[in-house]
Amino acid sequence: MNTSTNANLPGQPHIAYLGDQLHVEGVALSQLAREHGTPLFVYSKAAMLSALAAYQRGFAGRQAQICYAMKANSSLAILQVFAEAGCGFDIVSGGELARVLAAGGDPAKVIFSGVGKTRHEMKQALQVGIGCFNVESEAELDVLSAVAVSMGKHAPVSLRVNPNVDPKTHPYISTGLKGNKFGVAHEEALRAYRHAASLPGLKVVGIDCHIGSQITDSTPYLDAMDRVLDLVAEVESAGIPIHHIDFGGGLGINYNGDTPPQADALWAQLLAKLDARGYGQRQLMIEPGRSLVGNAGVCLTEVLYLKPGEQKNFCIVDAAMNDLPRPAMYQAFHQIVPVTPRSGDGVVFDVVGPVCESGDWIGRDRQMLVLAGDVLAVLSAGAYCMSMASNYNTRGRAAEILVDGTKAHLIRQRESAFDTFALEQLV
Ligand SMILES: *Cc1c(COP(=O)(O)O)cnc(C)c1O
Repeated sequence: MNTSTNANLPGQPHIAYLGDQLHVEGVALSQLAREHGTPLFVYSKAAMLSALAAYQRGFAGRQAQICYAMKANSSLAILQVFAEAGCGFDIVSGGELARVLAAGGDPAKVIFSGVGKTRHEMKQALQVGIGCFNVESEAELDVLSAVAVSMGKHAPVSLRVNPNVDPKTHPYISTGLKGNKFGVAHEEALRAYRHAASLPGLKVVGIDCHIGSQITDSTPYLDAMDRVLDLVAEVESAGIPIHHIDFGGGLGINYNGDTPPQADALWAQLLAKLDARGYGQRQLMIEPGRSLVGNAGVCLTEVLYLKPGEQKNFCIVDAAMNDLPRPAMYQAFHQIVPVTPRSGDGVVFDVVGPVCESGDWIGRDRQMLVLAGDVLAVLSAGAYCMSMASNYNTRGRAAEILVDGTKAHLIRQRESAFDTFALEQLV
């Protein structure tokens, strides 16, 4: 257990113990839990900006647009932080587009990914003039062209190609293999580009790939880049110019001793390959999500009950799978630490929530010294937690705080039970 003073937690430079209190930047988490209740998400603005800065350093002197993949965390104030820092956004629905606009994002810097865009969503995106549609099938090309023609517009398109490389990550977040639903197969890409170029409502502008998420090794990226550049050469020799190359997102973070490359180091390697193959001056796009926000956030939760058992001891907390879905969905690991550590060894607990599912666990076999009423911090909770949260068991979603130095801004109020059924009607 980490009880030392001024100790940064691994991979979370802005989350540290000062004295015997866990802080996010200059704000003590015990204080926030008292003031706002739990479960409570707390994010560090400085952590997000420093994660972004690693990419910006990596792209210094290049033409590059960073489009934050907002499904990782789409809360408006988080989008505002990235919009103000110059980011565009990678969206996957019309709802996300509405959020970008509400947060003051620039629609011209929006790219629209996803295998199932509806006509309505296409219209919405064409109306506001998004930067690019990342198209995932030939059928989608036809529909997008028809929608654009009906509006007297040309839709800028990129084809998401499937480089068929194994990102060596969890199967649910691996997206660039042949058996995945995403993208156009490498072998079919040239035909799809010819098709796109022949359609009246489309303007081919780029190429795109995204091979998976929580990638902790640079090899799959380098392999995917080779495959994509092979295609760029093929497509351009067929007379279809490719203005930008989009390498997607997927860079992993340190959840449990993971050692992903730093964004700037990864891009130094990728840019060296681009330069060597003569594509270093192309317009580049990337779509990072998790690596910009994952380690910028924690979820505070109060210990409700300790329940010793014959086979397992349970530590029952007030956050659950509806707040933190990653363990239940992907058997994911989140570190769990006390906000105010006690000294001593503790016992081994499974940390579980109140939801009526055995899959509702947050951490397994964790050695902790805790008592009912203590507040715990679930770390690495900035990505794919609040944005995946649900109202299962009629639990209102948690409140969210954005810390900036010594200021703590409430950026989302806690949902009440009434909020969860406000749109329902009796017959
Ligand atoms: C989810 C997603 C991303 C972001 O992935 P991370 O692992 O969070 O960086 C980028 N592009 C597309 C198309 C995605 O679906």
